[in-house]
Amino acid sequence: GEKGLIVSFGEMLIDFVPTESGVSLAEAPGFLKAPGGAPANVAIAITRLGGRAAFVGKLGDDEFGHMLAGILRENGVDDKGVNFDKGARTALAFVTLRSDGEREFMFYRNPSADMLLRPDELDLELIRSAKVFHYGSISLITEPCRSAHLKAMEVAKEAGALLSYDPNLREPLWSSPEEARTQIMSIWDKAEIIKVSDVELEFLTQNKTIDDDSAMSLWHPNLKLLLVTLGEDGCRYYTKKFHGAVETFNVNAVDTTGAGDSFIGAFLSKIVDDRSILEDEKKLRKVLRFANACGAITTTKKGAIPALPSDSEALSFL
Ligand code: ADP
Repeated sequence: GEKGLIVSFGEMLIDFVPTESGVSLAEAPGFLKAPGGAPANVAIAITRLGGRAAFVGKLGDDEFGHMLAGILRENGVDDKGVNFDKGARTALAFVTLRSDGEREFMFYRNPSADMLLRPDELDLELIRSAKVFHYGSISLITEPCRSAHLKAMEVAKEAGALLSYDPNLREPLWSSPEEARTQIMSIWDKAEIIKVSDVELEFLTQNKTIDDDSAMSLWHPNLKLLLVTLGEDGCRYYTKKFHGAVETFNVNAVDTTGAGDSFIGAFLSKIVDDRSILEDEKKLRKVLRFANACGAITTTKKGAIPALPSDSEALSFL
């Protein structure tokens, strides 16, 4: 039968990335326009693997906004839940590739169109048709997007969707770490599937030790699965009944951008049509091996969206 729909909610933007590392955009010989935004990457990760996904969010009614909507459509992502703001412009990120390999971001967001999505603009019919509803945290930061985010979550849950949450803390948009923690925790207890990185786990628990106890300290009654990604060390999983680790693959990583989005997109593309994966450790481990493979493949190519694997690429890699 037809595959279940995954709705991914949040921001989509353009990263301006210098073609050389160790210099700012102002000093770089050139730059690339890289579409991104974690929820949009996740939606594209899913369609590339042959799944069905829709993106819900807001873009500026400008050349960047229409370029991004075009990228969604080219990748087979349903864009009927995308709104265009007449006044504000599309969010942009100006990236510095530091010589140590880390990325620094400067944002155009004052406010950008993604922050201005209103609850009354939501396509409720689309959201109600989701089998999985996935979201991040950035849309919680300001009104009216925060209200739109909370309403979309509520409508999806009422209609029976699984809620999937990836905080995506990387972007330094919060005024303080306390504010970030408070906002993340305000929706933490609603999600049934949560994916965090080891760095986020450390931040949320305020504990430098990344172990089972620190992960389980974040458990809540609605949670069915907590995934912790560990870069080249693969991932860990926690359910009420079992927990463990799944190794990833040895690859020549050139750019880890989008690896986490690829990982969770791959995971959701499987869980959407078979929730028994949450109860069956053997099945879960198999799906996590697939998700690790997709994450690993994504690190072998530059950029996020261009590096997301197709189903056949993932299968031949395995
Ligand atoms: P995030 O992008 O959220 O920080 P990670 O860097 O932990 O997430 O990557 C997500 C997943 O991608 C990991 O769990 C792993 O499966 C895969 N991955 C990331 N980096 C590597 C790497 N260097 N080698 C192999 N797999 C990787």
